[in-house]
Amino acid sequence: MPTLGIDLGGTFARAAVVDAKGNIIASAKMALGERSPSAVVESIAHAAKAAVDTAGTPVQGCGVGAAGQIHGESGVLAVAPNLGWRNVPLGEMLRTRLGYPVRVVNDLSAAAWGELNAGAGRGSQDMYTVFVGSGVGSAIIAGGRLVTGGGGVAGELGHIKVVPNGRRCGCGELGCLEAYAGGHNLIAQTRELLATGRSQVLKELTGGDPARVTPVTLEQAAEAGDAEAREIYERASLMLAVAVANQVTVLNPARLILGGGVLTHCPGIRRRVVEGVQAFASTTSREGLLISDAELGDDSGLIGAALLA
Ligand SMILES: [Zn+2]
Repeated sequence: MPTLGIDLGGTFARAAVVDAKGNIIASAKMALGERSPSAVVESIAHAAKAAVDTAGTPVQGCGVGAAGQIHGESGVLAVAPNLGWRNVPLGEMLRTRLGYPVRVVNDLSAAAWGELNAGAGRGSQDMYTVFVGSGVGSAIIAGGRLVTGGGGVAGELGHIKVVPNGRRCGCGELGCLEAYAGGHNLIAQTRELLATGRSQVLKELTGGDPARVTPVTLEQAAEAGDAEAREIYERASLMLAVAVANQVTVLNPARLILGGGVLTHCPGIRRRVVEGVQAFASTTSREGLLISDAELGDDSGLIGAALLA
């Protein structure tokens, strides 16, 4: 019997009915209005009902991929920054509202599970997935199992420290990888440079408008030879490359899957990460390593959540 997958982001809840092979039978999307837990549960329930009605088939369980830190298998969302939540028992609330078993996992874990079973990781037992989008995250699959850690927060690559007491990260701590190399912070650093007025290239690329800065703008400015843009860009790329290479050395995955908006839209950063893994991971750990791009795009979390249900 198919299962239901939910992808809970900061602005939308998406739901899909997915078969055992990871094919989407039907899907629906609901904008989140009010962000209170009960209002969000209602939005999820509406999206779920629409997907199940369209599919015209019953489902036997539900998996949820949510952006935030989940307390192990409890279904409690300990911290969800983009919803402003702390300690919300999302799994229990949804179980009551939907009437079937619900499993809640981190969104990146769901996406990695989707890639493992229906995407770029098919056939693999040991896989490391890195996503660089607005933040930096990763998920570990070892021996065919999702590694979630003692407290459910394993794989937080974005919050390894790369500069002791460095730039402040969105998590509140200092010197995290994400504070230098996450898309949100690539934009912030580029805007800081634009605001100094020293970069003629950035002025031309954006018309002086900070709202037009994206990670792609930074890549273009660096490639156009702007020295200061290049410094931000090369530093971020090198930090990412060394971080990912070190994870390869520690975990010795058979596959390394790369995904997320920054790695998809900034080919120069992606190339530096791949070359960095080849240069900095230990020789033995990267023997036979296959590096590929995530295949399922925005659907990986939906499919993975459903398959984890
Ligand atoms: Zn952090």
